[in-house]
Amino acid sequence: MRGKLHISDLKEILERALTSLEVFSEIFSTSYDTPETLQERYSLIHELKYELSPITLYAFSKVPRHIFVPADLQSFAYLNKPLPIGFKQTVSQPLMIGIMVDELIKGLEENLNIPSKLIPIPANILEIGTGSGYQTAILCEIFERVSSVEIIPELLNRAKEVLRSLGYENLSLRLGDGRKGFKENSPFHGIIISAALKEIPEELVKQLTNRGVIVTPLEDKFGWQYLGVIYKTGERLEVMRKGGVSFVKFLSPEEVEKIRRGKREVL
Ligand code: SAH
Repeated sequence: MRGKLHISDLKEILERALTSLEVFSEIFSTSYDTPETLQERYSLIHELKYELSPITLYAFSKVPRHIFVPADLQSFAYLNKPLPIGFKQTVSQPLMIGIMVDELIKGLEENLNIPSKLIPIPANILEIGTGSGYQTAILCEIFERVSSVEIIPELLNRAKEVLRSLGYENLSLRLGDGRKGFKENSPFHGIIISAALKEIPEELVKQLTNRGVIVTPLEDKFGWQYLGVIYKTGERLEVMRKGGVSFVKFLSPEEVEKIRRGKREVL
């Protein structure tokens, strides 16, 4: 079990790390890093430092994003951009991931009184759409327990390998349709969804604790997407509409089969 880090210590470490590349490398270098990847990650954190909370920036500093993206795209891994990960899916832009994680932290604090003074934050989180596993790693750095569901087997297997190599012990992964959630590990304090939905599946609401929080891209009836932050209060869902976003769509098992068949034909 990892120890807890107090927010004031975390802020101090981050502030120190951002003074120079040398200090950043001393603090955040992993066995997967090269001088280039450290330099690029350092620049990305500087680019995002006024947009995101110290907790999220700290997690971004620790996680080597380049090992989550396809080998030929690794030199782009620290650009603040989404990148293709195969099967018509993308790893989201770092800023977008950060905004969503910060909304989740804020929602848990506001609606459930879960404090974010000690990291990992004592919350049980469900992620739908593991994809590359990058956001999963960020969640594992920040929250006490994380479960993640992915519907495309090839993506899940690759993410599983990378996440295992980073050694997260607070994580459960599952292949399946995210609409069904992850019942055995419920109730969840928070659910974060990485693909756009028209409405929240009932089963996910059931697996959310009372006053729990969902952060998800939602598609309105005109096909426009916006970031939704949803608070569960008794039987009611209070939806707060944040800015416009652009996510891949939530897939049905049939659509997944089509994508996988197409992939085999191309290969
Ligand atoms: N957070 C991911 C983003 C991946 S993109 C990352 O950091 O890489 C969205 C992901 O949602 C894709 O991997 C896609 O396969 C997955 N997805 C789409 N529909 C799904 C469903 N019904 N159940 C579970 N996962 C789904």
